[in-house]
Amino acid sequence: MTFQEIKDQDQQYIMHTYGRVDVALVKGRNARAWDAQGKEYIDFTSGIGVNCLGYSDPQWAAAVAGQAGEIQHLCNYYYSPQNTALAEELCQASGMAQAFFCNSGAEANECAVKIARKYGEKRNAHKIVTLVNSFHGRTLTTLAATGQEGFHKDFLPLTEGFLYAPAGDLEGLAQLLDGSVCAVLIEGVQGEGGVVPMDEGFVRGLRKLCDERDVLLMMDEVQTGVGRTGYFYSYQGYGIVPDVATSAKGLAGGLPIGACLVGEKLRNIFKPGQQGSTFGGNPVVCAGAREVVRRVREPEFLAEVREKGQYLTEKLKALPQVEFVRGRGMMLGIQLRSGGAHDVLIQCAEAGLLVLTAKELIRFLPPLTITQEEMDRGLSIFAHVLETL
Ligand SMILES: *Cc1c(COP(=O)(O)O)cnc(C)c1O
Repeated sequence: MTFQEIKDQDQQYIMHTYGRVDVALVKGRNARAWDAQGKEYIDFTSGIGVNCLGYSDPQWAAAVAGQAGEIQHLCNYYYSPQNTALAEELCQASGMAQAFFCNSGAEANECAVKIARKYGEKRNAHKIVTLVNSFHGRTLTTLAATGQEGFHKDFLPLTEGFLYAPAGDLEGLAQLLDGSVCAVLIEGVQGEGGVVPMDEGFVRGLRKLCDERDVLLMMDEVQTGVGRTGYFYSYQGYGIVPDVATSAKGLAGGLPIGACLVGEKLRNIFKPGQQGSTFGGNPVVCAGAREVVRRVREPEFLAEVREKGQYLTEKLKALPQVEFVRGRGMMLGIQLRSGGAHDVLIQCAEAGLLVLTAKELIRFLPPLTITQEEMDRGLSIFAHVLETL
């Protein structure tokens, strides 16, 4: 198939929900990918932070294919050792107590919202505070949780009971916590909102505040999780433990998964029948996730992510067209002095580099396993594109 044929098929048969770039990829290895014509691209996207071990990592692919050849799915009436082992390993890596598995970030957040509602139910507290500029998903409830009006437009009415507080303003947030609030939900680094890291004092203060008011602190680790910020979960970098953490994107290294993790206080919050997911905990997906967790939770692996993030940041800051770089680990937002982020993304693709945007920033989410050589190739293409702006 030619590229034009693929594009025509997309135009005709796929709902137009994405602003696409003129690239169709057919093969990838770590941080390199190729289109059907054999043109090579350096990948600074990981598919929006999903392929954390890069494209088609051999050990990950073997774990997935091996499980597909044993038993690919079973209904949640029955036990699966891939599923139970992943839950244990994830609890060890995160400091949480129990997991619920589903298939996406939005679903993991839906589960968190149900937990919060159930926790607050006895004292009639059902409201949830989220942050201005946050992003929590595309379902009607997670859209309501998303503190950006642009996403709400055309889809009202949304789920009730969400309040929005500006990030960093602990006092303002404290004032919202009257008796009707059961939980606060935040991202450690706002991803879609423009790669905005939370202030450490704010996150720690929020932990204390939530404890004092008996309000759950829930961290959306969907983008920041699984090593992305140089810690297994970003809250570990802030030195706190939330009551609920949601995980998805990178968790299974490229297969659909979501997980909602709860701490000891919320052990067995649901009764059987109160939450479920047909595909949740699927053994093929769990086999992939176990390979990811096994490698990413290693302290040396996480230290390398921080070092590579530091390296990229320093190199980017040295470019004359770059105004500032912000983020944590290998979750980086780059503000340019001039030039639209989207135009730069298109030009990078033409030049053989895949990048993302977040608001008006260029966003880099490279595979955590990216090599020095791949980083340098990508950086040199990026520098060249900026020069020709
Ligand atoms: C991507 C994202 C989501 C939504 O995840 P899906 O898997 O697309 O449903 C939720 N929260 C954050 C922080 C995200 O980055």
